[in-house]
Amino acid sequence: MQPMTLLKNGTVFSPQYLGTRDILIAGRKIIAVEQEITSPHWDYLEVIDLEKQWVFPGLIDSHIHIAGAGGEGGPATRTAEVSFDAIIEGGITTVIGCLGTDGITRTVESVLMKAKALRQQGMSAWIYTGSYQVPPPTITGSVSRDIALIEEVIGAGEIAIADHRSTYPTINEFIKVVQEAKVGGLMGGKAGILNIHLGENGPSFDLIYQAVEREGIRFNQFLPTHCNRCREVFEDSKIYGKKGYVDVTTSAYPYFPDSEVKPSVAFFEFLDCGVPIEHITMSTDAGGSLPEFDKDGNLVKLVQGSPVSLFRELMDIIVDKRIKDEHQAAMAVQTVTSNVSRILKLETKGRIAPGCDADLLILNKDRTGIRHVLCNGASGGQKPF
Ligand SMILES: [Zn+2]
Repeated sequence: MQPMTLLKNGTVFSPQYLGTRDILIAGRKIIAVEQEITSPHWDYLEVIDLEKQWVFPGLIDSHIHIAGAGGEGGPATRTAEVSFDAIIEGGITTVIGCLGTDGITRTVESVLMKAKALRQQGMSAWIYTGSYQVPPPTITGSVSRDIALIEEVIGAGEIAIADHRSTYPTINEFIKVVQEAKVGGLMGGKAGILNIHLGENGPSFDLIYQAVEREGIRFNQFLPTHCNRCREVFEDSKIYGKKGYVDVTTSAYPYFPDSEVKPSVAFFEFLDCGVPIEHITMSTDAGGSLPEFDKDGNLVKLVQGSPVSLFRELMDIIVDKRIKDEHQAAMAVQTVTSNVSRILKLETKGRIAPGCDADLLILNKDRTGIRHVLCNGASGGQKPF
């Protein structure tokens, strides 16, 4: 018999606001979410009273440099791998790792191996194949084969566009990568999505619009990130977001206060201008270096993003006076849970429902921090309840 846990009296956001619920977990899975589950006297059942504390699905980070990144200021500025503990401390139970700028001296294999390590430690982890560069570096020699054949690979990225560190792909080069990702996704039963790094050298979304108009590629093939990196890109994102997905980066705040749109502010502005909530996601970009260059191209600043930024921005939205009740708070939770799992076709993730993986984030009483994280039904290396 597998261990069972009954969590009583949680205030549950599934991410929809359900009110007080009991959650029954068997092994790695949630098997029931009901108003009241009476607890049989089984020896193998642990019963925990959550005393109305808020419970979210474990957060999903769709863009994190798990194997390190950076190096724009020379070898000494390469960043380290992101540790399992740092991710869990941020309330994140599922990650999608990416390579980043350095597809030259770093490899997709190292990202894959780090994802395997995180899985072994108990977390759920997938990756994108490729890097900033086009054509992208891969493991098997093609984007399609990587996605179709390697279980952990669900898409390609982050492909850089409109950035001085990108390879400035032509529309034909760009479409080739999109199509490879799409076909690999079809073969492998995956999202086959392209995670796009938006730089500041706009126009931000031109390549995507051209791919859609010229070849009939669908908007849901793209997940562009760093939409809040500066006001110009963000204004373009407000228009684009009515058609396609828009991902906001959390870990760059507050390092670039003069240019960046704070993620929690971006959330409200998106909604105010009519971007559907289903299109909005947030991710950390943690582990990546956040470089700033002067007008001559010299590196003047380099900082590193942290996983806990996702939870921080989520809570900054929830405590904002524009959030009137728990149902509105649930919309914010959706951007880091069920929206991400739907877009990336991770069906058992991002929701608190029977059949889903038991990934839970339990807040502390005053909702200022995290009391406990469950990853696939297990406590992520933390103190027990
Ligand atoms: Zn990026």
